Amino acid sequence: MRPPTLPSMLRPVALVLLLLSPLPALAVETMRIAMEDADGEVRVSGRGLAMGGDAEDAQFVPLSSGQALIRRRGGRLEVNGAPVMGDAVRFRAGANAIDAGVPGDEPLRAGGSQVRGDVVVRTFKDGLQLINVISLEDYLAAVLGSEMPVSFPLEALKAQAVAARTYALQKKLEAYSNAFHLGSSVLHQVYGGVNREDPKTRAAVEATRGEVLTFELAPIEAYFHASCGGRTESGLAALQRDLPYLRPVDCPCGKLPASKWTATMSDGELRSALRASPEGLKVTGRTDTHRVTRVTLGDGSVVDGVLLRRKLGYTRLKSLDFDVERTAHGYTFSGRGYGHGAGLCQWGAKALADQGRDYRAILTHYYPGAELQHLY
Ligand SMILES: [Zn+2]
Repeated sequence: MRPPTLPSMLRPVALVLLLLSPLPALAVETMRIAMEDADGEVRVSGRGLAMGGDAEDAQFVPLSSGQALIRRRGGRLEVNGAPVMGDAVRFRAGANAIDAGVPGDEPLRAGGSQVRGDVVVRTFKDGLQLINVISLEDYLAAVLGSEMPVSFPLEALKAQAVAARTYALQKKLEAYSNAFHLGSSVLHQVYGGVNREDPKTRAAVEATRGEVLTFELAPIEAYFHASCGGRTESGLAALQRDLPYLRPVDCPCGKLPASKWTATMSDGELRSALRASPEGLKVTGRTDTHRVTRVTLGDGSVVDGVLLRRKLGYTRLKSLDFDVERTAHGYTFSGRGYGHGAGLCQWGAKALADQGRDYRAILTHYYPGAELQHLY
């Protein structure tokens, strides 16, 4: 894939400016995150619950019970038995609910989740969809603990906070006019809601508030992974993203014993995963960083490296930087690193922080050429 042309880069820049220059009351950067789908009804509750339209400047009306039962009747919505206008309704908890154009800070319970910010319930297909509208900074405080161990040094957590903020903002720009910016898989796998916050993740987010990585004034695609095994991979080889700031760099994580792994799989396991006999399996293609792009089986059929990892399982074949050996009843894969290898290496960030490097130096190392900017 070629780098973006100038006109296509100008659009995100314009959107960033748009995001940053709204009315003072709306100056909080928010994310819309798909939570879950519900069939015909869902409950939302919270202290000082109020209800309004799905807009940043909506007027909110308190619900005296602190509870809302939202039901779908045909194409319409009902809240506590009364019909409401439009195809979406937004809930906010807390005393500041009525005046400010800022998502609430007080947690809300919606369906099976507890979240900060607002919850939008909208008609979707035959049922309902829930969307969490949350300030970007609150969202980051929640995701950081799921993305990197909170025991990591503060400078590594700060680097991760900037990468996650940049990634989220870039996704938002990509999905600007959609009902939500990040899908439910993010919520289920990474965004654990209120329960995953920790004082250390909060501190890392606050210390880098508003800071994002940019390239030619647009937020970069800030990919990250657990461990590269010694050298990161290019964006093109790892993710088909040929971007100037995603190029291989050396990484101190390769010296950590934890970056090495082995996986032994029997012929039977391999046969059912590959839907072919594994007999004669050998590596027949690698990238410049030694990662496997291709294996060939005894019958001459070829399996692409990325597909092989998906078929054998991301947690067993932890990376594509591996060697493979025949055993008595199968194959042993011996590898380095965990993940796709592009962008920030988390264990490398930890190692660099332990050596006294700050988060700016860490980010510059893994995203060469990207610039750190204060968006707010
Ligand atoms: Zn690394």
